[in-house]
Amino acid sequence: KKHSPFNLTSIVRVIVRVRPFLPHEISRSSDKAIPCVSVLDLPLQSDSEVTVSVKDPHSCRNESYKLDSFYGEKDNNLRRIFEREVMPLVPAVLNGYNATVFAYGATGSGKTFTMQGSEELPGLMAMAAAAILSMTEKRVEISYYEIYMERCYDLLEEKEITILEDKDGRPHLKNLVKIPIHSMADFHETMRRGTQRRKIAHTGLNDVSSRSHGVLVISVSENSSLIGKLNLIDLAGNEDNRRSGNEGVRLVESQKINQSLFALSNVIYALNNKSSQIRIPYRESKLTRILQDSLNHALMVACLNPGEYEHSAHTLRLAARSRRV
Ligand code: ADP
Ligand code: MG
Repeated sequence: KKHSPFNLTSIVRVIVRVRPFLPHEISRSSDKAIPCVSVLDLPLQSDSEVTVSVKDPHSCRNESYKLDSFYGEKDNNLRRIFEREVMPLVPAVLNGYNATVFAYGATGSGKTFTMQGSEELPGLMAMAAAAILSMTEKRVEISYYEIYMERCYDLLEEKEITILEDKDGRPHLKNLVKIPIHSMADFHETMRRGTQRRKIAHTGLNDVSSRSHGVLVISVSENSSLIGKLNLIDLAGNEDNRRSGNEGVRLVESQKINQSLFALSNVIYALNNKSSQIRIPYRESKLTRILQDSLNHALMVACLNPGEYEHSAHTLRLAARSRRV
């Protein structure tokens, strides 16, 4: 598949991953285990595009969206997604470009499973770190931070970090900790530290980790100058406020999340449709400001829970609108 603007292939690929039903969802034999996401087999569809359909099992409502690729619940091999979708970004990073991989979707849709995985079942973060370590002799470092309520917190050292702009107006995070890694043991140890901090930060607030964006940066440098970096991001869960019944802090939080996800989608849309001369609205959120230098080569993985109609439709709608006209 070519990534040329002439065949209209997105610059930022947007793919769908449906997680399988979990044992407790099936054993309850409730109506939760009715799959509502499928990929349509359309004649004449170009091979660089799929049409994903979501259907409400309780009514005749259904919607369909065009995206770049589909990995269904029976096609659940993360290694394959890594090889086909993420691996092409690695040589770019080793050759001087910045790139970003996002996991996007509702809470419970499999974002953390996809990005972080566990030490036994590595996610895309560990797979990318292993690939980069095996492909370069240069210095590899990782940073890990989160964005919560439009503020950034370092996860490798307890501190809030601010965005500064260099003299060319390029934003960067001031004093963000970078830890050199030489092996996957180093990687796992540092990730463990960050994940632990992510759990205990923001005392008194429950489960901030699924309502903040978690950003791992793997950077490659030589003679203390940066060559390229790969950002791997477990985005905050998107919620539909009209349905969630959120109030108070929860509501403000979820409005901030939705604003920043919407801003991200606007930026990706603008990048994918450059010919339309739209200004790229990086400044609308912290996330897009920080990622300003890293979105030209990117992949968005829209994660879906196969039994959730409303959430899946909501996720696909935003994922599809990032894509292109
Ligand atoms: P999110 O981060 O989007 O809230 P999680 O990654 O925590 O969702 O996934 C929700 C649950 O589903 C977890 O128990 C996780 O282990 C499980 N899960 C997610 N994706 C898969 C998958 N591809 N295969 C098996 N289990 C999965
Ligand atoms: Mg999560």
